[in-house]
Amino acid sequence: MTDHDEKGPSNFIKHIIDDDFRNKKNDGRVHTRFPPEPNGYLHIGHAKSICLNFGLAREYNGLCNLRMDDTNPSKEEAEYVASIIEDVRWLGFEWDDRLFYASDYFEQLYQYSVQLIRDSKAYVCDLSADEIRETRGTLTSPGQESPYRNRSVDENLDLFQRMRAGEFEDGTKTLRAKIDMTSGNMNMRDPVIYRIQKSSHHRTGDAWCIYPMYDYAHCVSDSIEGITHSLCTLEFEDHRPLYDWFLNELNIFLSQQIEFARLNLDFTVVSKRKLLQLVNGGHVHGWDDPRMPTISGLRRRGVTPSAIRNFCDKIGVAKADSTVDIALLEYCIREDLNRHAHRVMAVLKPLKVVITNYPDEETEEMEAINNPEDLGAGTRKVPFSKVIYIEQDDFMEDPPKKFFRLAPGREVRLRYAYFITCVDVIKDDTGEISELHCRYDPKTRGGDAPDGRKVKATLHWVSAEHSLRAEVRLYDRLFTKPNPDDPRDDADFKMYINPDSLDILTDCRVEPSLAGASAGSRYQFERLGYFCVDPDSEDGKPVFNRTVTLRDTWAKLQKAHKK
Ligand code: ATP
Ligand code: MG
Repeated sequence: MTDHDEKGPSNFIKHIIDDDFRNKKNDGRVHTRFPPEPNGYLHIGHAKSICLNFGLAREYNGLCNLRMDDTNPSKEEAEYVASIIEDVRWLGFEWDDRLFYASDYFEQLYQYSVQLIRDSKAYVCDLSADEIRETRGTLTSPGQESPYRNRSVDENLDLFQRMRAGEFEDGTKTLRAKIDMTSGNMNMRDPVIYRIQKSSHHRTGDAWCIYPMYDYAHCVSDSIEGITHSLCTLEFEDHRPLYDWFLNELNIFLSQQIEFARLNLDFTVVSKRKLLQLVNGGHVHGWDDPRMPTISGLRRRGVTPSAIRNFCDKIGVAKADSTVDIALLEYCIREDLNRHAHRVMAVLKPLKVVITNYPDEETEEMEAINNPEDLGAGTRKVPFSKVIYIEQDDFMEDPPKKFFRLAPGREVRLRYAYFITCVDVIKDDTGEISELHCRYDPKTRGGDAPDGRKVKATLHWVSAEHSLRAEVRLYDRLFTKPNPDDPRDDADFKMYINPDSLDILTDCRVEPSLAGASAGSRYQFERLGYFCVDPDSEDGKPVFNRTVTLRDTWAKLQKAHKK
């Protein structure tokens, strides 16, 4: 793997595949798989693996299987299987009729183990889990051989069959591979192949009470499916000799395991176990909470599949672990939405403005551009009338020097409408500003003054009478610390949950064109960011999730680096 350096580390797997082609390995076939364990919802880390596996298959005219790695009945559920299928498909990948389950191979896996026993390569061991651990040795000292290691083939066959028949209690016996208790690689010290676990499996029910261990089930499943390149994350590097051992001893198709660095993203956690704690502890409102780094959470937040795919392309595939700046993901989201999302006007914190010289009963239809990045997206009409709302933040009674928006006596542009000048500030009994009185210049219709005079700000607005009330949910990072699950930190990662990660605004106003917008529709609210219609929306009361703001911190960072 030294010849990839000049091309950069991001395509070292392609180099391996190219070499395999040259060497006519696997008859030029490329067959990958994505093998999630259905014990939680998929997250952005999985998206990297999905894009890599399905992407390579696509690029090399090969195939990629979707395989549920369902060998642990106690943690797996059908709900997770359904969510995985939905998420991979939503990301844009297809597996035709190649949806497999490791549990489909239980009989075959059992028969292969019988073969290992016959070849004196496996034995039934009566040591408890604790005893096995205690006799495994350490990195610097060898392990001890089990007293059961030299059972006869016949005794092993009999005991293994009786394990399957349910004669023994959980934890009283295991089937172990007979390899080398002195190996420098701990994984090779007679690893467990089967354990007894009398629990129902979500697919096989009570047919089995012994279940294969991951290291055994995974490589054999790969081999059964004819997987040529079995891509997994770096923590499996030390397991590779065992992967190869099983396939060599069984003399079956030799899939090749290749390890790559997992994706870590800052300000979040990418571990199903930890995400489950967030869900179960009520820290978020479910797996698809828009603050979650899950695929379903990102989808609900308004992120597009192509933004995720682009992100995965950009981060590349390397051999060394690293953490990706979440600003890069946000950049990819923005880049995609900028091209496709229609612009609309919405006011999150409304301030009433009465245009005193505008006719009382009049309504005008202002022409607004749907997407300046895509003029083919056309225009729409936005109603304008005497009473409008602008953003509270867009007005200051006593503005500092650098504030160019509305202030007493100052003129600004209303997007697609008129220039207005603030002539009066009306306050309630408590001294809070309740409304502004402005005058408009009828000659500035459309947003330009015929005499060429300029204004320094353009504000978004909605007509009070015509706008719809909406709820808007603003999300911030889920954690306050870039690396909440730093292994060097003893504190629980949940200590760093951002208490302000969700801000719900219930009295927002959006332009009437948004009436009836369906869940999942994405928009740019002018000057505010990208928003997506949440499934919690009701007729006449839409709910929007803020996907991302317009502020591009990534581009800024890149510029700073170049300087
Ligand atoms: P978790 O730690 O979240 O439970 P996992 O690796 O146990 O993750 P699996 O369902 O076993 O989850 O993963 C399916 C595939 O996705 C595996 O091939 C795994 O290597 C890959 N994968 C999981 N997390 C990441 C990640 N952060 N980056 C890249 N690939 C990942
Ligand atoms: Mg796993």
